[in-house]
Amino acid sequence: MRSLALMCSALLLGCATAPPPPPAPAAAPPSPAADSPSSNVETKVPDENTTGPVSCARDYGDASRRILEAASKSDRAWRRLTHLTDRIGHRLSGSKSLERAVAWAKSELAADGHENVRTEKVMVPHWVRGAESASIVAPTPHEMRVLGLGGTVGGTVTGEVVVVRTFEELDALGGAVKGKIVLFDKVMPPFGPNGHQYGETVVFRNTGPAKAAELGASAALVRSVTATSLRSPHTGATRSGKRKIPAASITVEDAELIKRLVASGETVEVKLSLGARTLPDAESANVLAELRGKEKPDEIVVIGAHLDSWDVGQGAHDDGSGCVTMMEALALLRELGLGPRRTIRVVLFTNEENGLRGAFEYAKAHAEEKHVAALESDTGGFAPQGFRVMGNEKSLEQTRIIASLLEPLGATKVEKGFSGADIMPLARAGVNTLGLQVDTSRYFDFHHSEADTLDKVNPADIRADVGAVAVMAYVLADMPATFGK
Ligand SMILES: [Zn+2]
Repeated sequence: MRSLALMCSALLLGCATAPPPPPAPAAAPPSPAADSPSSNVETKVPDENTTGPVSCARDYGDASRRILEAASKSDRAWRRLTHLTDRIGHRLSGSKSLERAVAWAKSELAADGHENVRTEKVMVPHWVRGAESASIVAPTPHEMRVLGLGGTVGGTVTGEVVVVRTFEELDALGGAVKGKIVLFDKVMPPFGPNGHQYGETVVFRNTGPAKAAELGASAALVRSVTATSLRSPHTGATRSGKRKIPAASITVEDAELIKRLVASGETVEVKLSLGARTLPDAESANVLAELRGKEKPDEIVVIGAHLDSWDVGQGAHDDGSGCVTMMEALALLRELGLGPRRTIRVVLFTNEENGLRGAFEYAKAHAEEKHVAALESDTGGFAPQGFRVMGNEKSLEQTRIIASLLEPLGATKVEKGFSGADIMPLARAGVNTLGLQVDTSRYFDFHHSEADTLDKVNPADIRADVGAVAVMAYVLADMPATFGK
């Protein structure tokens, strides 16, 4: 075993001033030194004496290089994503395919040799789409492409369409929308310097139909939440109020057509028919697996994603990619012999899309445990850019230091922001949380639509995501200081 001084010196040279040493061959048994920086190196990260990214690179540089090297060579996550999408398919709560995915994920995690591989029962909503259609019946007949919004009631409605772009416009119309079909035509701007503006746009899908119902509308249509459309509608959840009306998304192209017809002075009439039904809750499960900590096994770092998807496309980006990324991160750390001080726990949540029951159930069932961090990936399997942190200033600074190890991936960007829906209950309970930030410039082209299929995912991006998550999870679980403290 190398002496502490030699070790420090070598690592310092390796990361601070000289080019990094060549990574250990993947097949070579891990050296005890590389195995666990915590036991060999007087690490300065990220305790009170932290001096910045260099000290982190010095202390975890060797481990992170080994992780990134191994991640760049493994195609197991991609093979798993291929199986999940092509052989299991989309995975809406209550569907047989979601339960096949749960069983498959559990058996894969067990095959990876993890500890405490298990499923934890969650009762989930069971909404089914049924047959659906929509058409303009006047002034010019035109078949539309339509997707009922998750949770909508079924029914057939024919009526005049009223177009609104804002809630103020809807309120100004008030009772005038009674018996009519309200079209929420909020235009999602193209991806730009301000990002995708999903939050500003999706609010109309989330709450618009219920507001229209309150005013007496007979049905609601929502322009798909996407800036780029090739005539495929994008579904998603909508909140239902006391009065329930059929609610569906239509394509950008059809929303534009209706708007042009209305602007030309025509009365536009639409027939909407939805076969949606809500059945009794169904049994599903979260899937868990662990790499138990060597020194503080009861302190948990959760790395999670959601296994369910909408009932269109293949749920490849959303969130199959996140699931296989988390599975692979844990598998690589185990294979490299990188046993951290604390426990890293993969949680594949069920029912994110239309209920978040898996998220709430997990937080409730594990409320007594000490979660020191939670990391989620749920914005697609694109190239990693960094992390969004929902936590205190200390956790933000620590994340910046750790992310500096991800320079080879270009994933060093760290900012405050939303970390992820499935770890929100943990965040509310005071856990500092992180979201993997990826290049989302094309995410909403595919999101919640028939186009979210495997061919839209780049295998190299998945490998890079695995590297970013594995390094972050490893250092969070191994560093002497507690995340955020
Ligand atoms: Zn998702």
